[in-house]
Amino acid sequence: RERTGSGRIGPRPPLTVLAGPTAVGKGTVATYIREHYPEVQLSVSATTRAPRPGEEHGRHYFFVDDEGFDRMLAADELLEWATVHNQSRYGTPRRPVLEAAERGALMLLEIDLQGARQVRASMPEARLVFLAPPSWDELVERLVGRGTEDEAERERRLETAKVELAAADEFDEVIVNDEVPRAAARLVELMRGDDG
Ligand code: 5GP
Repeated sequence: RERTGSGRIGPRPPLTVLAGPTAVGKGTVATYIREHYPEVQLSVSATTRAPRPGEEHGRHYFFVDDEGFDRMLAADELLEWATVHNQSRYGTPRRPVLEAAERGALMLLEIDLQGARQVRASMPEARLVFLAPPSWDELVERLVGRGTEDEAERERRLETAKVELAAADEFDEVIVNDEVPRAAARLVELMRGDDG
């Protein structure tokens, strides 16, 4: 029914992972989907970072402390988890993902590359979608555009971005984030399976 970039053919995957390099805007695409496509169920991650203004416990994240996160790990409640930007821990609760798969719901995980690789390893039937910047120059601009980082930090981030961009090869599909509504529509099309 479906042929992906990796050549796999099969039924609608139980879940879709959206990942991509730093600053590509996957959070923005996920927010757009949350607001415009109620048929898509977004996985709510657990995180040890503090809530930002406007973020709700249970809607954007489950905010937990270090002990809470350790408990989830010990109970094997997380499908995948990672320490992101060398700071906070983030992880995907396993049960909602399995329940959504059972119902045949459209489940989307917006996670980092380390997490995407773990999902690939533990759920080979998941579909991995890579969100790419329109161009390398555009990504550089988004990364350094604010002008708040010094030269060394800029170099470090660009190195990271280069490595992260190379990861696109490991993914089933690549969507270019030229415009958020377009990228979101393309992603939902893929998830519905009407990618013809
Ligand atoms: P933020 O703190 O800005 O909401 O998210 C920071 C980073 O954490 C983003 O790259 C996002 O994709 C990633 N992230 C959010 N939830 C998870 C998760 O459950 N697992 C993993 N591996 N990464 C996550």
